[in-house]
Amino acid sequence: MSIKKTRIRRANENPVGDGPVMYWMNREIRAEDNWALLYAQELALEHKRPLVVVYNLVLGYLGGGGVQQVFKLQGLQEVAQDLEAKNISFVLINSSDVETSGKDLVKFFEDFQPGIVVTDFSPVRAQMSWVKELGKSLTCSFQMVDAHNIVPVWIASPKQEYGAYTLRPKLHKKLAKYLEDFPKLKKHPYSLPEGVPTINWQKLFPENAKEKTGIFQGGSKEAEKVMDTFLRERLPVYATDRNNPLVEAQSDLSPYLHYGMLAPQRVALEAMKLLDAPVEVVVHAKKNKAKVDENGPLELMDHASAFLEELIVRRELSDNFCFYNKNYDTVEGFPEWARKALDKERTTKREYLYTKEEFEQAKTHDELWNAAQMEMLVTSKMHGYMRMYWAKKILEWTESPEEAFEVAIYLNDKYSLDGRDPNGYAGIAWSIGGVHDRSWFARPIYGTVRYMARSGCDKRFDTKDYIAKWQERG
Ligand code: FAD
Repeated sequence: MSIKKTRIRRANENPVGDGPVMYWMNREIRAEDNWALLYAQELALEHKRPLVVVYNLVLGYLGGGGVQQVFKLQGLQEVAQDLEAKNISFVLINSSDVETSGKDLVKFFEDFQPGIVVTDFSPVRAQMSWVKELGKSLTCSFQMVDAHNIVPVWIASPKQEYGAYTLRPKLHKKLAKYLEDFPKLKKHPYSLPEGVPTINWQKLFPENAKEKTGIFQGGSKEAEKVMDTFLRERLPVYATDRNNPLVEAQSDLSPYLHYGMLAPQRVALEAMKLLDAPVEVVVHAKKNKAKVDENGPLELMDHASAFLEELIVRRELSDNFCFYNKNYDTVEGFPEWARKALDKERTTKREYLYTKEEFEQAKTHDELWNAAQMEMLVTSKMHGYMRMYWAKKILEWTESPEEAFEVAIYLNDKYSLDGRDPNGYAGIAWSIGGVHDRSWFARPIYGTVRYMARSGCDKRFDTKDYIAKWQERG
């Protein structure tokens, strides 16, 4: 089976050169189920060339720290082993920071002289600018593959969507075509004559790496285990309990999806195997608890439908936002109605004001907010429901929406394993700036951006238990 041409975009118009085919791996740290790698292999087989995978490791990328570094390195080490078994070379470029990494890449490709370069797609600015820089400097053909979205972002929609309600029907229509199984990566028949440098993994892992690992272990094998456990044990309660941070109903897959250690498409395919219905039917099953009373208890299909809504529609909506909105991480990216509404509230007195450091150290007056911050500090992940409350309160307790947005992104990117992701930028923009939401009743500070009250959390789950759980761990 060959890869759909609509997944691929040319990053320059150059012809094929004489050297090996190279896959510059970026967003997708996995050997299997990776359309970009599969495409690179397809080209290498067609042109009878060796295949080389290169990863540009940038320590401290977009504010990520030790936990992210260990998690990523665990994944990369596994990729190197998996590729070796397939006779595919793996090269690691070690860049000191984001500023110089583009230049390091250009230099590497100048020295290596590939015949074709393939990369994976991400709408995040740093990666887009590396692609642009490299596209200009490479003398050979350079192509980009959307290996993250089930429906490639440029096929799903040609413009920024207003919300899930406008993207959903477009995605649903295309799912039957794009939700196909992956072929296996083949053992590659052509080798590099001179080999590649050996990687000293031990030197790359930071000192006290074990302490920095947190509760998540990186790599595709671990990702599959987390997925299997979720599908077996948590999916049957997903629709009803996923918004209760005291119940383990969410998948915990976001760190793996963020680093590409697991393809969202694989997760969707495995979920579909549990059901005896085509995907078009599953995505239309009832999705929320409100319907339970009307129509009886939810069935597995309903839970799967709710899960696929998050995994496919909401996730791909975030990529759509960052791809088409160049201001995805500033207030200028908010819809006009929200910017105007927030502007009117600039001089409204804030009852509480905190510095970035006070937020960071979980030192606000609100024990529930502090507990959510502690959950993120301790586990490198905050429950999805608490993330909304957490970001909205930052808006309430800072001097301006600009400051709130900056603080929320800083904390999310620094402490979350799944941070520095389109989902993070869209999620924070939803909470603070009404992105993908509609206007609500006007309130102080929020204007018509949706408000979230502590009492809403109290009604939904036992907030005292949640506070006690994370205070203890603090
Ligand atoms: P599950 O409920 O099991 O969902 C499965 C997958 O669906 C997730 O891994 C994710 O890929 C996708 N998904 C679920 N909810 C959403 C959503 N609301 N929007 C987009 N995709 C979704 N997600 C991140 O991946 N990285 C972030 O940095 C991030 N920051 C956020 C910040 C705020 C303020 C908000 C409100 C949301 C943020 N989200 C982020 C979205 C969502 O909260 C997380 O994806 C989810 O909590 C991850 O946990 P899970 O994998 O167990 O989720």
